Amino acid sequence: MKPVLLILFYVAIVLLPLMLAATSGRPPRSLWNELASGAGLLAFSIILVEFVLSGRFRFVSKRIGMDVTMRFHQLLARTALALAVVHPFLYRGLFGYQRPWDVTRQLTLTTDIGALTTGLLAWVLLAAFVLLSIARDQLPYKYETWRLMHGLGALLIAAFALQHTLHAGRYSQDPVLAGLWIVLFGVAAASLFYVYFVRPLLQRKRTWHVTSVKPLALKTWELTLEPDNHSGLDFEAGQFAWLNVGHNSFSLHENPFSISSAPAAGNHLQFMIKELGDFTRGVGQIKPGTKAYIDGPHGNLTVSGSDQPGLALIAGGVGIAPLLGILRQLHLEKDSRPTTLVYGNRVEEQISYRDELETLAKEHGTQIVHVLSEPPDGWAGPTGMVDPDLIKETFGAPEMRSWLYVVCGPPAMMESVENALIDIGVRPNLILSERFDYD
Ligand SMILES: Cc1cc2nc3c(=O)[nH]c(=O)nc-3n(C[C@H](O)[C@H](O)[C@H](O)COP(=O)(O)OP(=O)(O)OC[C@H]3O[C@@H](n4cnc5c(N)ncnc54)[C@H](O)[C@@H]3O)c2cc1C
Repeated sequence: MKPVLLILFYVAIVLLPLMLAATSGRPPRSLWNELASGAGLLAFSIILVEFVLSGRFRFVSKRIGMDVTMRFHQLLARTALALAVVHPFLYRGLFGYQRPWDVTRQLTLTTDIGALTTGLLAWVLLAAFVLLSIARDQLPYKYETWRLMHGLGALLIAAFALQHTLHAGRYSQDPVLAGLWIVLFGVAAASLFYVYFVRPLLQRKRTWHVTSVKPLALKTWELTLEPDNHSGLDFEAGQFAWLNVGHNSFSLHENPFSISSAPAAGNHLQFMIKELGDFTRGVGQIKPGTKAYIDGPHGNLTVSGSDQPGLALIAGGVGIAPLLGILRQLHLEKDSRPTTLVYGNRVEEQISYRDELETLAKEHGTQIVHVLSEPPDGWAGPTGMVDPDLIKETFGAPEMRSWLYVVCGPPAMMESVENALIDIGVRPNLILSERFDYD
């Protein structure tokens, strides 16, 4: 399914409850009451589909990229919150028991205490939940603890909202809409169950083990895995996987890393890991033979199938990892198109795979541009950041406008590079990128 069809499918699912309500044949109420119900219905359907969006399902992430999927997830959660917040305040009318003459509940708004309590709980929890997610970095929780709370909290909110919708909602008295809510809730709960139980169970059948851990550059490690009696991972150069090393497959200790090896190089997987927090700082201590689990491949940072006349790879720091996988693959496939790699680092000691890059320059003809923001004395290459001037200087030739550009690095660098590329006339659909941070 093409990304645009996936987006249309999403819109159709989210709007389905509203459409069912609009065509239910119930006599209309005041505009405010219709808006209130509409806001509630829309907020709830967005919340339920969020479970699938954040479930790392490849049919989504492969098409629109994991970072874009997660950005959608965050923006839609905020949209659902805004709709849920206004939902109770828009109602106008009589509160109380249902009057005998008001069989279609045109006039009366429910005061069923059970349904209102669950609505209030869902409302308060959702607000707290979205605000705590926005402030996640400031919370004193480990990522894994936060992730577990996020999953369970979302399920609790959805359960409260379901009870409220089925008992207080006017349109949800309709059996078709009530049935749809139950199905959507079932799908949401099933995707959580799949992420936490089924996927780890499947991973136990395809275990991996660490074959080597080597220092690569300043605070950067190379980790290599081999499959245990299976054929390995069917991936495309540039994709990434969630890696769980040394823990049970059901553990929440897993982190996303780009695969820096090329699929054509064999069934081993290589990762470049930069020290940052709990897991990455301990990578150097991992012993060969340690069991590992892989959830992947994910992401759409791949050039396979591309037919542009040249390829430009622009990396900042450890953002070189997926680009190295791509470059290695192009070399093994003997791809004859010109390639240029711009690789920015702060200091020289951070440059990874320098010798291999030189070999790729000689054997594959790749033009390699090392950029340092804190160069040593005598450094002959460009200095400073990978900024618009450097991009214009390196890729300003008119024939390079039709190349394919792949960008990965710190968010600020990516944004400035993407803008600079657009400024020199590169079409946005020729720029591929992957963010290592979803916030
Ligand atoms: C698509 C993608 C590809 C990446 N590729 C690489 C790579 O090739 N090399 C590299 O060094 N780094 C890569 N990263 C970043 C890497 O995932 C984090 O540096 C690492 O997870 C930090 O874990 P930690 O336990 O050391 O630190 P922590 O302090 O636990 O986490 C630091 C931050 O890393 C992120 N993070 C941690 N765990 C997860 C998780 N399970 N899922 C999503 N985000 C998480 C969160 O933003 C968190 O705040 C990539 C990230 C993404 C999203």
